[in-house]
Amino acid sequence: MRVAIVGAGVAGLSCGQALLSAGAEVHWFDKGRATAGRASAKRAFGGHVDLGAQYFTARHVAFREQVERWQQQQLVAPWPAKLYSFAEGHLQPSADDIKRYVGLPAMHSPWRSGLPEQAITLSCRIQAMSYQQGWQLQAEDGRSFSGFDALVLALPPAQASELLTQDEDLRQQVPVSMLQPCHAIALALSEPIAHPATAVFVKDRPVSWVACNSDKPGRQSDSQHWVLHFNPEFSQQQLAARADELSLLAQAELSLLFQQDVLVTQSLHQRWLYAIVDAEQGAPGVLISRRFPCVVAGDWCLGGRVENAWLAGQQAAKAVFHV
Ligand code: FAD
Repeated sequence: MRVAIVGAGVAGLSCGQALLSAGAEVHWFDKGRATAGRASAKRAFGGHVDLGAQYFTARHVAFREQVERWQQQQLVAPWPAKLYSFAEGHLQPSADDIKRYVGLPAMHSPWRSGLPEQAITLSCRIQAMSYQQGWQLQAEDGRSFSGFDALVLALPPAQASELLTQDEDLRQQVPVSMLQPCHAIALALSEPIAHPATAVFVKDRPVSWVACNSDKPGRQSDSQHWVLHFNPEFSQQQLAARADELSLLAQAELSLLFQQDVLVTQSLHQRWLYAIVDAEQGAPGVLISRRFPCVVAGDWCLGGRVENAWLAGQQAAKAVFHV
């Protein structure tokens, strides 16, 4: 069986690896320049900076077993963050017993490991698909790919919906507005912040998350650097905000949280249009077409987050054999 997977984020990669293990021939297509989507990191400040997913949990037994294998291969490590919360102007310790993991040396490392590079086409945005005895995919740059028995769309819902023009029934089931945007900023500092906190959940401010990326295990770095996520409401209202404006605001937020001056030497911005699942919209599960051999999967199918993206990919792989 030849399977095309559009989207090589955690869900698409997890699905493809499961299909390869089951003997299928897999080909991934991704519009990005590298794999891992929202769980990828950028090269900056002498190492890698996690601008998307910050850590992941491993609650489900199957994912826990996978994480243990990655730990043995030194692709993953626990991140014992010194957690704080900031609410009503107060910063206070907020430890919990949740075990948080990060990829080593960058968030994308476990998903990129062992991938058959020749089976991945990057910088390739699929803009149309059609089915006639097999799937044909049309890329934005004019290339076309054909001869696939089954297709997995491992995409955020709005991007999956755009491709489902031939299958109105399936398209109707896709919750297009389920992912909210997020502006992410990384700030490299001239002097480390003098405070024990390494991660802060923030309430009632434009930012919702602040973390010391250089504190994570295995990170190389020229200087202490922090990642700040603006909350979905602010990010939506300021969707077109410029990187330099956001960087100044992030600096002010960092200063306010820790009650000290911070001097920024470099900054990095990423706007995620489809970032975080709006939990109030529920979780529709992996979607399977009734008309064509096609499955739609992503973190949003099971409630968001890295762990659910991986689990959705595994479920999509099983579904492929029944479409
Ligand atoms: P994606 O990673 O979105 O993968 C979809 C892929 O499809 C992308 O690589 C994209 O390039 C590609 N694509 C889209 N359209 C096309 C097209 N037309 N043609 C070809 N390719 C296409 N999760 C946690 O567990 N913990 C966290 O701390 C956490 N923090 C987060 C913070 C931010 C700012 C963001 C953005 C996400 C965060 N998440 C976190 C969520 C986590 O990153 C996601 O749940 C997970 O990575 C989603 O994986 P996915 O494969 O479902 O989707």
